[in-house]
Amino acid sequence: MIPYGKQTIRRHDIDAVAAALSDDFLTQGPRVVEFEKQLAAHAGAKYAVVVNSATSALHLACLALGVERGDTVWTSAISFVASANAAKYCDANVDFVDIDPLTFNMCPSALERKLESTLEAGEQLPKVVIPVSMAGQSWDVESIYALSQKFGFQIIEDNSHALGATHLGRKLGSCAFSSISVFSFHPVKMITTGEGGACTTNDPVIAKRIARLRAHGITRDFDEMASPSDVGYYYEQLDLGFNYRITDFQCALGMSQLESLDEFISRRREVVDYYEKNLDTSRFVLPTVGSGNSSSWHLYVVRLVPEMSVLRDKLFRKFRASDVLVNLHYIPIYRHPYYWNSGLYSFVDYPEAEAYYRAAISLPIFPEISLQELDFVCQIANDAIYD
Ligand SMILES: *Cc1c(COP(=O)(O)O)cnc(C)c1O
Repeated sequence: MIPYGKQTIRRHDIDAVAAALSDDFLTQGPRVVEFEKQLAAHAGAKYAVVVNSATSALHLACLALGVERGDTVWTSAISFVASANAAKYCDANVDFVDIDPLTFNMCPSALERKLESTLEAGEQLPKVVIPVSMAGQSWDVESIYALSQKFGFQIIEDNSHALGATHLGRKLGSCAFSSISVFSFHPVKMITTGEGGACTTNDPVIAKRIARLRAHGITRDFDEMASPSDVGYYYEQLDLGFNYRITDFQCALGMSQLESLDEFISRRREVVDYYEKNLDTSRFVLPTVGSGNSSSWHLYVVRLVPEMSVLRDKLFRKFRASDVLVNLHYIPIYRHPYYWNSGLYSFVDYPEAEAYYRAAISLPIFPEISLQELDFVCQIANDAIYD
């Protein structure tokens, strides 16, 4: 069996978790704070807040920016459903922006057209836009940031795929052009904590709000209390928060994994080189990396050339029948019945997402995939699929 993605766990990861398990704190201990410091330093942001998943991180990011019932949030048509669900948790209206056919990221000109037609129709502009760094490369920071200034929305970056990726030499998650960035530590992502996620931000108020919402909306900070008291048992609940905490032993794993991130990415680059040398380019359109970007290569998405896209499902089944667990990232979010049944969305608004959905297939990519496995994948990919 060859999965499309898989974690790499080494001896030092196991030792780090074992050490954490023998310490005083399993949760709410020093490793959480330490992991946050390391993540903030890695991304070049002032603050990081770690939580139990990127889904939780996206939810808290929306809440921290004040997303509520009646607000509108836009995200990319091609992403994991969590990018949109986060806004639904806040009772916001969700809409989607078509993708750029080369990077698969939110298309800035589609976004601009949608903003202008929304304005002309007298409809509500988005409060927050959530661009996604699809497959591990940055969304178009300059163009979308300029639109955020012109149309007055805030940006939450869904960088779930892109820990370690850079744009113009700057790590993703620095929040130089956004309010909040989100990372995922699910096992298929760049590093793992089992389940886990993080927000980074440069805004101390946002960081504090997210940290409080992660733990029931409770504060122990005198400055925030309605009736400050220094007696040891006292705390106050200020908002309706959640238990979105991550454990200390997960953070031990996260820190240990972070040490290997550069190596993971360079190994993924070798896989990309292999595919570039060996895949039949008369059949597949290989991924392109946009200018100024270096990708973390979370995913390797190829598309069948348009004349062959009718064979995509056949090829997909062939891979799966050979125990190569290729995947499709992603079904356009508006196509899921939960969204589609609202009657708010229409295929004609998303020609590029639809073309992508017809032709895309994610080939296996992870640090420990072997040459034999890559060779096997390329054989199936390049083999005749007409019969
Ligand atoms: C994986 C993923 C998420 C959710 O991450 P979890 O940590 O599993 O909650 C959100 N957005 C995108 C784009 C993802 O790929």
